[in-house]
Amino acid sequence: MANYDFDLFVIGAGSGGVRAARLAAMSGARVAVAEEHRVGGTCVIRGCVPKKFMVYASEVSNQLKTARGFGWTIPEASFDWKTFLDAKDVEIARLSGIYVANLGKAGAELFHSRAVLKDAHTIEMADKGLTVTADKILIATGGRPTVPRDLPGIEHAITSNEAFHLERLPESIVVVGGGYIAVEFAGIFAGLGVKTTLLYRGPNILRGFDDDVRTHLAREMERRGVTVVLGCQHASIEKTDGGLVSKLNNGMILTSEQVMFATGREPYVEGLGLETAGVKLNARGAVEVDEWSRTNVDNIFAVGDVTDRVNLTPVAIREGAAFAETQFRDNPTTYDHDTIATAVFSQPPIGTVGLTEHEARQKFGEVDVYRAVFRPMKVTFYHGEEQMLMKLLVNPKDQKVVGVHVVGPDAPEMIQMAAIAVKMGVTKAQWDSTCAVHPTAAEELVTMKEKYVAANLGGA
Ligand code: FAD
Ligand code: NDP
Repeated sequence: MANYDFDLFVIGAGSGGVRAARLAAMSGARVAVAEEHRVGGTCVIRGCVPKKFMVYASEVSNQLKTARGFGWTIPEASFDWKTFLDAKDVEIARLSGIYVANLGKAGAELFHSRAVLKDAHTIEMADKGLTVTADKILIATGGRPTVPRDLPGIEHAITSNEAFHLERLPESIVVVGGGYIAVEFAGIFAGLGVKTTLLYRGPNILRGFDDDVRTHLAREMERRGVTVVLGCQHASIEKTDGGLVSKLNNGMILTSEQVMFATGREPYVEGLGLETAGVKLNARGAVEVDEWSRTNVDNIFAVGDVTDRVNLTPVAIREGAAFAETQFRDNPTTYDHDTIATAVFSQPPIGTVGLTEHEARQKFGEVDVYRAVFRPMKVTFYHGEEQMLMKLLVNPKDQKVVGVHVVGPDAPEMIQMAAIAVKMGVTKAQWDSTCAVHPTAAEELVTMKEKYVAANLGGA
């Protein structure tokens, strides 16, 4: 075997790269990791974690309203953005430090540098003046925001990257897009008291989610103060003394202090030297891999968002782990991408696992739908109006639960548990035999006995 500097070189110290590097190093392999920004990647530095802190901060306004309904006297409350940002940055630095320490403990060598492939075994870290070789290379460079670059005035808009570091909390914002990031940030800003407009080009937000979930969330977001504008998009953005003027293709004009584009993310492969190393991309510009995360080049692998399979942190981690198990721990492992639960940290949040009603109908022809829309007891107490949605989809032929969708407080926590049962192939009868936990909102999930829509099984 050729004499390489490392057994494994990982490009990118995010969720997938760090997990792979640690597991490989713990098996005794000589492992190096390069990171051009901060260790922890999107999730820790400018994704899931700081976003969740922002959601926590933002939700307090609704909790204050609730508290008053429960008899608390709370003087006029105010929020200090700078205090929050400073505390957030301290916590992010702490978490990033833990990632660095864990890599070190595992025995991996960390290079704070951009890495570029020079050939299938050679990596250059120009800012360190270093070129090293490795037997195997793992590309784990993640993704980055994408915006319509030809839109006049797009340079005045921010993306989620900048939203974490705004010098001041704007008085008003237009959030563009109808996906995860758009609905999460619209909720964050609205909760923090920012006049928020969510602007989406399609007929309803969150394309790909269950239709009831989409409609329910849009309504609840409006209830919490977000103005949802559907079916149109930007024609231009102009910077004026009065703020940013968004001209829309339906003639509407919106003026706001900030405009944030959350219009998707693209695999981060630019300038990585993939062509030089002969690594193929697929039609979506992602590194093409098989179920073992192998690229078309024998010794080069890729995991996480750069492969654009399912772009979630736990998925990147599992893919990284499966790669390390297979290549360095003599334990051939693939990761099953089927039935992955997901949460949207909108306000209220969503938890979902399995098929949407539309997908279930396409797959099985018929589907039994169980649905509950209700005001949770906490809300009825203070005479609030917020409603919760729960929906179960059952394949009428074998009675398996094929989809669970929840919108409302704690939905992400509920769905983690429901996902275990759905992944195991639970039937509706087994689901119903589970005793309720009382008094909770979640108990509604196991007490939905009446079909909202019954499948027509030809006389059954
Ligand atoms: P990343 O975590 O992006 O890591 C890639 C790393 O590679 C980066 O640190 C980058 O700097 C580095 N890098 C890139 N190129 C080079 C190079 N040439 N040399 C050296 N280093 C390089 N997922 C969830 O599951 N739950 C959530 O709540 C959630 N919230 C999100 C919120 C936001 C705002 C965003 C943007 C994403 C969110 N995600 C969430 C998605 C999640 O963050 C990603 O799926 C996950 O981080 C992907 O991990 P990764 O290892 O593929 O890449
Ligand atoms: P998404 O792909 O989820 O959504 C992108 C949105 O932007 C869609 O509504 C899309 O519309 C719209 N869009 C795309 N191009 C344009 C355009 N040119 N003009 C106007 N609108 C446009 O991407 P996000 O950026 O929200 O998030 C990226 C990924 O990160 C997510 O898919 C998810 O995998 C991950 N993520 C996960 C989170 C979680 O787990 N809670 C939180 C945040 C991110 P259309 O539907 O019409 O195509």
